[in-house]
Amino acid sequence: MTERIDFDLADAPWLRTLVQRVRSARDAGEQEEAARLEAYGRAEGGDVLGRMFDQIMASLDERDAALARGERMAPYGISAAEEGQLACDFCAAVDPVVYFEVTEFGIGGPGGTFLSGDRFYACPRCRELVEADDWKGMREWIGPKQFSIGTRMMIMGFKQHRKGGAVTFEPGTNPEAGR
Ligand SMILES: [Zn+2]
Repeated sequence: MTERIDFDLADAPWLRTLVQRVRSARDAGEQEEAARLEAYGRAEGGDVLGRMFDQIMASLDERDAALARGERMAPYGISAAEEGQLACDFCAAVDPVVYFEVTEFGIGGPGGTFLSGDRFYACPRCRELVEADDWKGMREWIGPKQFSIGTRMMIMGFKQHRKGGAVTFEPGTNPEAGR
């Protein structure tokens, strides 16, 4: 069963502000300004935040369409990893080395639910921290500024829904391929 955890985009202030500015520019019919802000977001946010920005924008469009029909949007998956690429689900480092299986859970946000997926990938450092149950160390590793309420909710959900030990895989292979 999908469990609802409240998640507030207010805890990602940079993304939130950018998303709001793009949306108000679009609402005002200022397509050029919206495009300029989007380009700025991609340049400043880098690949990871840029992808999340795109996904959040798409999820908000879906939410609005659902609301217009008097519904809630269907659960929506957001991932910092590129299509076909894996990233550590804790610190967003590329090239994770293991994954931990979880029972999929949802983090409820404004107007909808974001899904965790059924695997949490981990880089070597995050694997050590998870196995040592060292969540204070995880907070320091991720960086207090990046350790938003969303990240805390995600890690809390991970702890509650983890199904077992680390599953290793051949470096350079993608265990997501062909699933
Ligand atoms: Zn990591």
